[in-house]
Amino acid sequence: MDHKTLEHLQHLDAAHHLHPFNDNAALAAKGTRILTRGEGCYVWDAEGHKLLDAFAGLWCVNIGYGRAELGDAAATQMRTLAYYNSFFQCTTEPTIRLAAEIAELTPGDLNHAFFTNSGSEANDTILRLVRHFWAVQDQPRKNIFIGRHDGYHGTTMAGASLGGMKGMHKQGGLPIPDIHHIDPPYPFGDAGDMDPEEYGLLAARRLEDKILELGPERVAAFIGEPIMGAIGVYIPPRSYWPEIERICRKYDVLLVADEVICGFGRTGEWFGSQYFGFQPDVMTIAKGITSGYIPLGAAIFNDRVAGVLAAQGGELAHGCTYSGHPVCAAVALENLRILRDERVVEHARVDIAPYLATRWAELGEHRLVGEARIAGLMGALELVPDKRRRGEYFPGRGKVGALCRDIALRHGLILRATYDAMLLSPPLVITRLQVDELFDKAWKALDECAQALG
Ligand code: PLP
Repeated sequence: MDHKTLEHLQHLDAAHHLHPFNDNAALAAKGTRILTRGEGCYVWDAEGHKLLDAFAGLWCVNIGYGRAELGDAAATQMRTLAYYNSFFQCTTEPTIRLAAEIAELTPGDLNHAFFTNSGSEANDTILRLVRHFWAVQDQPRKNIFIGRHDGYHGTTMAGASLGGMKGMHKQGGLPIPDIHHIDPPYPFGDAGDMDPEEYGLLAARRLEDKILELGPERVAAFIGEPIMGAIGVYIPPRSYWPEIERICRKYDVLLVADEVICGFGRTGEWFGSQYFGFQPDVMTIAKGITSGYIPLGAAIFNDRVAGVLAAQGGELAHGCTYSGHPVCAAVALENLRILRDERVVEHARVDIAPYLATRWAELGEHRLVGEARIAGLMGALELVPDKRRRGEYFPGRGKVGALCRDIALRHGLILRATYDAMLLSPPLVITRLQVDELFDKAWKALDECAQALG
């Protein structure tokens, strides 16, 4: 793109486009980076820079960029039947096929999909339908959801309330009533010298304490991301999720796994709940279901919940115009075909995850890195002032992370920064050679960042 066009677009962007999760005044002054093309694990910007996208867009481009088959699937479906809804006792073929395929892929008896446009709407959906599930069984007071401080479940009123991001709660009067939070499992910041598995049990038992405080007859569900992504890839010890599951079963509290990031291969398993070995009653998905090529989300219910909703729920007063959109469903089906037929999840688990873990651990040797944690293809480097002092952070948390992210960009590498943690989530199709490139660029960025800090 020529310089004049780029400047013109940046001017229009500053004048007319409010960016999500951005300081829009600061962005307008700086000028937006405009992305123009993608291929495999790389994207190009309008100035012609080639960038290794080690964040897969926003945790979502699992099959990599530029797969024409998904565009073909969308075009074919648009030409055949661009739209029809699932409201008026009807639906479309790709929608049905996708619901059946999700039932096949998801673990246990998670057999019933309610489609949305996004992960946030999927989490809104479960808040309403799970409360309805208890209400129609004469337990209308069993309506409290428990989430985790610093959890992320999206940006709608319910999604942001279920999440525990303080900055989000400050805007718009959140959380909405009857949503409570417990502290998350964050071994680096919270476990001290404790044995990790013991710490995992302790962190899980915060749920039991909260249920007993509120009364089990009031608690409808617990929701959690198998690995908390946005806050900084908090990977719980192995003991955490089985203990959460035990507690949920004991008090008849529904267990909701938010698999919006972890689903569709991110951990090297199809779902994060399989990685940790627990069985959710309800699951929310989005992102990797279409590898981000088109918006789509879903709430998935097990036989028990869907059975009650069907038998006693009456007409569900819930749904989006685009619930089960046939074009989105057709693209999702093609994406799932590629993930399956090209053994992309297996590639991530067998060929990449162990190698990436080794190289990530090498980055952990850098003097700026207090912890290099990774699970499958999801990791974080926690940048600290003194790597010998665990749990200590830079003053004004976030500045060093932003600095390192910007330096990495100049080296042609996209990583995300949350506070001072550098987050990793590359396309699942990344090769070992590209992992080496990622390592070299990240190391250079860390070096330059350390030099800048003096
Ligand atoms: N849940 C998790 C764990 C997420 O990371 C996100 C988005 O990043 C969401 C829900 C919300 O999904 P969406 O942005 O599609 O609304």
